[in-house]
Amino acid sequence: MDDPLTVIGVALVLSGLSALFAGPLGPLVVGLLALAVSVTRGGGDDAVNRVNCPNCGAPNDADADTCEYCDHAISGA
Ligand SMILES: [Zn+2]
Repeated sequence: MDDPLTVIGVALVLSGLSALFAGPLGPLVVGLLALAVSVTRGGGDDAVNRVNCPNCGAPNDADADTCEYCDHAISGA
């Protein structure tokens, strides 16, 4: 793949990406990418794997024995 056109194309894409990330829109682009990744990976998974403490309502891991905030026993699954 030493086609000059391919090399030029890759260089253009890379420089374009660099300009995006380095420019004033960099944080926005990164944020959008992160958002897209989280949506693609199913952002709801975390919520599914968490359970609210029956005592204080704080979110805890579903497999936790006690609340990490108030030490109240959590009746898991
Ligand atoms: Zn608690």
